[in-house]
Amino acid sequence: MVQLHELILRDAHQSMLATRMRTEDMLPIADKLDQVGYFSMEVWGGATFDVCIRYLNQDPWERLRLLKKAMPNTPLQMLERAMNIVAYWNFPDDVVKKFIFLAKKNGIDYFRIFDALNDLRNMQVPMKTAKDEGGHVQACLSYTISPIHTVDYFVEKFKKLEKMGADSLCIKDMAGMISPQRAYDIIKGVKDAGVKIPIDLHSHYTSGMTGMAYQRAVEAGVDILDGAISPISGGTAAPATESIVAALQGTEWDTNYDLELLIEIRKYFLEIWDKYRHLHRFNALKVDPSVTLHQVPGGMLSNLIFQLEQQGAHGKYQEILLETARVREELGYPPLVTPTSQVVGVQAVMNVLHGRYKVITKETKDYCRGMYGQPPGKIDPKIMKAVLGKDWKDEVIDCRPSDLLKPMWSTRKSELKEHSDIEITEENIMTYAIYPQVGLKYLKGEATAEFTSAELPLPITHPLIRGMVKQSFPKEKELWLENEPPENRSGPAQIPTEFEVEVDGEPFEVKVTPTGGFLVAGGSGAVAAQKPKDVEGGVKSNMQGTILKIKVKNGDKVKKGDVLATIEAMKMEQEILSEKDGEVKDVFIKEGAAVNNGDVLMQIL
Ligand code: MN
Repeated sequence: MVQLHELILRDAHQSMLATRMRTEDMLPIADKLDQVGYFSMEVWGGATFDVCIRYLNQDPWERLRLLKKAMPNTPLQMLERAMNIVAYWNFPDDVVKKFIFLAKKNGIDYFRIFDALNDLRNMQVPMKTAKDEGGHVQACLSYTISPIHTVDYFVEKFKKLEKMGADSLCIKDMAGMISPQRAYDIIKGVKDAGVKIPIDLHSHYTSGMTGMAYQRAVEAGVDILDGAISPISGGTAAPATESIVAALQGTEWDTNYDLELLIEIRKYFLEIWDKYRHLHRFNALKVDPSVTLHQVPGGMLSNLIFQLEQQGAHGKYQEILLETARVREELGYPPLVTPTSQVVGVQAVMNVLHGRYKVITKETKDYCRGMYGQPPGKIDPKIMKAVLGKDWKDEVIDCRPSDLLKPMWSTRKSELKEHSDIEITEENIMTYAIYPQVGLKYLKGEATAEFTSAELPLPITHPLIRGMVKQSFPKEKELWLENEPPENRSGPAQIPTEFEVEVDGEPFEVKVTPTGGFLVAGGSGAVAAQKPKDVEGGVKSNMQGTILKIKVKNGDKVKKGDVLATIEAMKMEQEILSEKDGEVKDVFIKEGAAVNNGDVLMQIL
């Protein structure tokens, strides 16, 4: 018998609907889902936490409690990013432990724990804590293709994870590129190695091979397969649950689930799919076998592809795709999953637009220093030098990254207590500890929902209409580019100035300024700050985003290249550097401020 892990309430809408499904659209079907008899149901983690507080104005903890109450018979599971928890950077042990405790307390039974780099040191603390709290630990390995990621690599690591106390294992093929034979070989290898605990295959339909891979996995003895109810399946999402159940009916692997019940559930999600139509995207629905050629996940660059093609910039897209593959190789073949997909993808875009390793993100530096964990393969010393400078050897750490972090829980707790308008619960402290800016805004009641369930489907004139609808009709500007003779255009038409990249299924608008050469990025939730006037010696933001830290104050002497501030754009942290020596005369912005491209941040004379 094979069992299924259901993704409809987490991964499915993260892959296809930008993680936007609201709690009130999950609850009416929870009772039926609870009757299926799934191995487990994924309801939390991944990008859901971030999206709840950032875009939905919903409490992720409350969602969990409500779903737990509505599905008492099904083990609820969350996707936990090891030391990144549900964010994109490392947290100290005390916060990770407290988070696992609170997740368990609020309703999580199974913890699916993964590390982007498969650095097992990063998985130790969350695994042990989840075990201590009485949870089931499903230890994952991020799947990728490289000379390092052989069948033996996976088998050996899975054996170690069993020894570390895992209750079950999972191949996390987040990009949907596992081939049938590879799925067979890894699962057979794990079984032949005498691993006793069940193994799960998580995949997406991206490459189009996944149905075949699932069959071969079943033949190799896989215990659990991941599926999503059909209206939000296929393409960049998982294979359809009903199809897997039907395919295995009458065989020795029969799930014994009630197909009629599943078809009833399907009807509900057909309505949901239609309701959220403003988030549909053509390319997410299609298979993209090119992933098998470049090992670059389709979802990572899917919007980029479309936008570049629309602007007649095929060349640029190919270049970025090849550059992504090249950067990945140079950085030691990290699996391309959150957060390493952003590290590699954004660096590749920078390399193509500005020259190789001319503009280096803070994330690339951190990655090379070992701050995400140990890269799977060796990084070329030439690249290390380009990224970290000639003394790069002194910069590299060899310990577990979180060992460098000081405990943070009590600091965050006392910080939050200063806000008398916020109820101090451990859950609220955690929301704030994980997302200090966005979390605080949400807790203060200052967040707004992009839309409520009652407003759906949105009318075609709504500003949020994008994706499929927007992609179907060329924008005015693109028409203008096509109709205008080349000499009248402000810039060469083959170089795109606007495109979208996807971070965790979230499309971010990215603009490229023709001079100065910087990426300008901003999420759909960004609020424009009041634009200060241009001043002599004004330091301008070269991107749209949120100011994280201001590193200087009035009167400070700065040198060319000093970090003046850090800005978060596309969920990535980037540094704003001083272009000259001088003295800070005035700072016009505050930490947490949303800024636009070209906003004057400070004055240096
Ligand atoms: Mn997934």
